[in-house]
Amino acid sequence: MPARRSISEYQRQAGKQPLRFTANGTFQISVFSDLHFAEDDENDKKTQRVMDKVLSSEEVQLVVLNGDLISGEAIHASNSSTYLDRVVAPLVDHNIPWASTYGNHDSEVNLDPEETFRREKNYTNSLTQKMVSGPTSGITNYYLPIFRHDAANNTDPAFILWFFDSQGGHYPKTASDNGTVIPRQDWVDESVSIIHSRMASIFFSLERCTLTDSEQVVKWFTKTNSKLLSTYGKPIPSLAFVHIPVYAMRAFQVTGVSPTSEPGINNERVQQQGYASEGGYEAQDYPLIRALLNTSGLVATFSGHDHDNDWCFKWDSKLPELNFTGNGINMCYGRHSGYGGYGDWARGGRQIMLDQQSLASDMQSWVRMEDGSISGNVHLNSTYGQDRYRLVERSTSGQANVAPQYSSLVYLWVFVFYLLMQRLGL
Ligand SMILES: [Zn+2]
Repeated sequence: MPARRSISEYQRQAGKQPLRFTANGTFQISVFSDLHFAEDDENDKKTQRVMDKVLSSEEVQLVVLNGDLISGEAIHASNSSTYLDRVVAPLVDHNIPWASTYGNHDSEVNLDPEETFRREKNYTNSLTQKMVSGPTSGITNYYLPIFRHDAANNTDPAFILWFFDSQGGHYPKTASDNGTVIPRQDWVDESVSIIHSRMASIFFSLERCTLTDSEQVVKWFTKTNSKLLSTYGKPIPSLAFVHIPVYAMRAFQVTGVSPTSEPGINNERVQQQGYASEGGYEAQDYPLIRALLNTSGLVATFSGHDHDNDWCFKWDSKLPELNFTGNGINMCYGRHSGYGGYGDWARGGRQIMLDQQSLASDMQSWVRMEDGSISGNVHLNSTYGQDRYRLVERSTSGQANVAPQYSSLVYLWVFVFYLLMQRLGL
């Protein structure tokens, strides 16, 4: 039987207060996806404004930065991790703890995510961790427990948040590279999926994991998991955050995303894990999908990456060209939050409201827009996918309006030039 850890032990481990439900029995998470800092100073200020406005409109206990914090390709200096200070400035101002996953743009020739991670750890409010040490496992693979408001010191967590590193981008340059650009795999490493299953069974053990014999671990997992379930009598409800979505989101998109059942913007082909790899998609994310489906109590996953999508779907059936059948897990996009990166839809941040009373059975989620309005407010409950919602407003950012104005100006000048030519008889 795994040893129980007390809250004070978690506290010692993390060096800070553990996450807790509020006295009202709620816990709200604000997700910022695809912030893409470092492309342009003005855009960085606008992005900070988005974060500030969202956090001023909501009362949140945790912020999740769900990948593509920084646009690594825009960076040419070696001290690139200092951009992290810009990313987290609004969170420091609001004094809210945060947890990150890194995205494909967070690892580039001049942007080393290990340095970004070290920079993050200078902040006491950063809860980001690295619990898996493997040559291809990436960095942001970890979990955070959330305790009940009035929990005693040796209590079980009420909720678990999982974080995965879906990698991608390129390896940072080293002195021996001779300028060669080496791509990183753009999926959650199989060692992590297996460890994830392992960690799901022993979430009271915080030691780092390094695997040498995966078969042993799977056997051990099966054995320990059944022990865990008998110890606690029920699985702990959980959420998972990973920057690049898994193939199930693409498979569902092919069947059709309904604007009333899955309200949101669906304006882009899902580019799932493995999509951008050299050999193309070859089910690289299957180990993760299997592990997600095998994690009892996992309510939903949240991804970014595809800036022009922000819907959620319930995976409760067989989907085309996918070997797995969903178990009712919800899979959601966040909302493109930054002014960097492609896309012109109005910016915002997805909100997740956990309730101690309903925990896994009914979770409310909506997108708080930069202008203060709310978009795509849904209940991820047993009838999500059948319930009907109002259509979301398809507004673009102020930036998008620049293009038509600019083009009208060009047309005007062409017209004036044409009139002038006629007058001159040319
Ligand atoms: Zn992005």
